[in-house]
Amino acid sequence: MRRALIIGGSLGGLLAAHLLREAGWDAVVFERNTEDLTGRGAGISTHPQLIDILKRVGIAFDESMGIKVDTVICLDHSGHAYLREPTSRTMSSWGRLYRSLRDPLPPESYRLGMSLQHVEQDADGVTAVFADGARLTGDLLVGADGLRSTVREQVLPDLAPNYAGYVAWRAMLDESEVPPDIRAEIFERYTFCLPEGELLLAYPVPGRNNETQPGRRAYNIVWYRPADPDRALVDLCTDASGRCHGTSIPPPLIRPEVTAAIKATARALVAPQVAEIFARARPFFQPIFDLESPQTVFGRVALLGDAAFVARPHVGAGVTKAALDAASLADAARADDLAAGLIRYQSKQRPFGSCLVALGREEGAYLSAQLKPREQRFRVGAAR
Ligand SMILES: Cc1cc2nc3c(=O)[nH]c(=O)nc-3n(C[C@H](O)[C@H](O)[C@H](O)COP(=O)(O)OP(=O)(O)OC[C@H]3O[C@@H](n4cnc5c(N)ncnc54)[C@H](O)[C@@H]3O)c2cc1C
Repeated sequence: MRRALIIGGSLGGLLAAHLLREAGWDAVVFERNTEDLTGRGAGISTHPQLIDILKRVGIAFDESMGIKVDTVICLDHSGHAYLREPTSRTMSSWGRLYRSLRDPLPPESYRLGMSLQHVEQDADGVTAVFADGARLTGDLLVGADGLRSTVREQVLPDLAPNYAGYVAWRAMLDESEVPPDIRAEIFERYTFCLPEGELLLAYPVPGRNNETQPGRRAYNIVWYRPADPDRALVDLCTDASGRCHGTSIPPPLIRPEVTAAIKATARALVAPQVAEIFARARPFFQPIFDLESPQTVFGRVALLGDAAFVARPHVGAGVTKAALDAASLADAARADDLAAGLIRYQSKQRPFGSCLVALGREEGAYLSAQLKPREQRFRVGAAR
């Protein structure tokens, strides 16, 4: 049986493992974290393509997978809903999807505490070399190791993620902690707030232990705010000891005054119902990057998911793209001629990835443009 070594045990790696196994391969996932991953409360919007792929690998997309929302509202600064439109979305969560993909895999197919160091390959096979010195050989190596992919850094050393000029503040609060009047008014709606030059969206997601029953769900807020890379981002990423952690910082190290300031800003800029929920939560932020790989196949190595392309999250399709990449790769890997199959994979998924990156740039252009002087913000192409 042909063997795939999958680097990265998040959603992209798990989807690849299921789909390659379905295609008749032995697929083993290697994740550098030593314990099961947690979702930090990230909400994930789902698409029919993702649901189809989950069904293909035997995972039912039932009521327990997410929360259905049927109305979009826009709230102004005073909390008044000035727009109300019907919608049809199922909001799941990173953690819910992770468990549904992780639990059915045999334990020997998902190995924690395995940090890839580098890859070696020749005509006969590909070898993953890990930080502890372990060497494992297979027929195919899948780089599903995310935005800061070790695999990609080796095959495309000059390619760096592109900072979009803004961060996403994220917050999640248990439904039971949302004040009842606010809960009744907005909890089950997909809510937008649009402070000038910013964008906030909020919606219900499964609870911390993936519950979808009323009373046990959670509320998720994502708030995009410009942060100039030389000053604001440096300040945000500096911990209480004065150490700057680069372009991101582990949430527990965010300085208390930074958290207090963003809660105060929420009260000043966004609808009071949303600001109240935000103030009761423990917000953290993620800088927004995008990334476009010029090539995704290198001999027996294939990049997939965020390791290959990252579109800004406005597209809301990172997980669906990872699923479509994984399905396309597994279809290609059915071929007896693996090299030809991999070239087909690349020619199919690369234009798709580039398209999503372009769409994300278009949708986030006005956020990026906020770092330009006001008179330049509306020029065509100003935001790139
Ligand atoms: C603010 C925000 C909102 C988003 N909202 C949505 C949404 O609504 N819908 C949606 O579909 N997507 C959304 N996304 C995107 C989505 O989270 C990602 O696209 C998705 O998680 C990609 O998964 P991945 O498996 O490719 O990479 P990742 O989730 O980044 O996983 C990479 C894994 O590889 C591991 N790894 C890294 N290096 C090594 C190594 N050397 N050895 C071993 N393991 C390694 C890491 O520990 C990690 O577990 C959002 C993203 C952001 C930032």
